[in-house]
Amino acid sequence: MGEGLKDRVALVTGAVGGIGQAISLALAQEGAAVALNYLVESDESANAFSAEFRRRGYRGRLYKADVSQFKDAREQIDNVIKEFGQLDILVNNAGITLDRALKNMDPGEWDKVIAVDLSSVFHCCRAAIGHMLERNYGRIVSISSVVGQKGNFGQTNYAAAKAGMVGFTKSLALETARKGITVNAVAPGFIKTSMTDKIPTNVMDKIVDGIPVGRLAEPWEVARAVLFLADEQSSYITGHVLSVNGGVYM
Ligand code: NAD
Repeated sequence: MGEGLKDRVALVTGAVGGIGQAISLALAQEGAAVALNYLVESDESANAFSAEFRRRGYRGRLYKADVSQFKDAREQIDNVIKEFGQLDILVNNAGITLDRALKNMDPGEWDKVIAVDLSSVFHCCRAAIGHMLERNYGRIVSISSVVGQKGNFGQTNYAAAKAGMVGFTKSLALETARKGITVNAVAPGFIKTSMTDKIPTNVMDKIVDGIPVGRLAEPWEVARAVLFLADEQSSYITGHVLSVNGGVYM
C-alpha cells in the first residue's frame, strides 16, 4: 500500500459501479480515506463493497445520495466534510446512458442523462468548491468519455453531457488555477463494466474491431489515470482531458 494520499479525503460518486470501485480502491490503496457515494445499487451490494474496503484495511464510508439533485449532493458533501474533517479529492464518476436515436428520443431521456451525467458535476463541484478554496487545495477529476469527443450513434444526450463536462472542467480550472486546485477530466474509451455489458455482442464485436489496442479496458486502467491526476504532485496539470481509450480516438 502506498502512502501518497495518506492525509487526503476523497469523494467518489458512483463508487459502487464498475469504474467507481476501481477508482475508490486505487485511492484507498494510496492511503486516502474515501467517501463512497452510490445510488442505483442495492444497499446489500454497497455494504459488500464497503466490507471489502474494511477487509483490506482501507478507510471508507458509504453515502447514499442522488447527485443529480443539488440538495442531496450538497447535504452529502457537507456530511463528508463534517465526518472526515476535510475534502481534498472529488471524483465525479456517476453516470448513466439512455440510448436512442434522436428522432425517437423523448425529452425525459434527454433531461435524465443531462441531470445525472452533467448537472451532477455542477452540483458536487458547487457544493465542494468553497471548502477547497478556503483550504487552498483541491483535486477535481470528472469522468467524461470518448463519446463526448467523437460522438456516437444513439447517444446525443450522453455525448452532449460528456462534452459539456469538458467545457465545465476548463472553465473551473481557470477560476481556481491560483488557489491550489486542479480540475481535470478523464475520457475513457470502452471499459468492461455493466454499462458496456448492455451493448449487444454483434455491436461489441464491431466496436472491438475499431480499437487499435484490440480489446476493451479493465476498470483499473481508468483508475490509474484518476490516481495520477489526484496526486498532490500533479499540481501543474489543470484543465486537461486525459484519454484512456486504447487509441480509438487520437
Ligand atoms: P456503472 O453503471 O457500473 O456505474 C455508474 C455508477 O453511477 C453506478 O454506481 C450508479 O450507482 C451511479 N449513479 C447513477 N446515477 C446516479 C445518481 N443519480 N447519483 C449517484 N450515483 C449515480 O458504469 P461505469 O462504466 O462504471 O461508469 C462510470 C463512469 O464512467 C460513468 O460516468 C460513465 O459514463 C463513464 N464511462 C464509462 C465507460 C465504459 O465503457 N464503461 C466509458 C466512458 C465513460
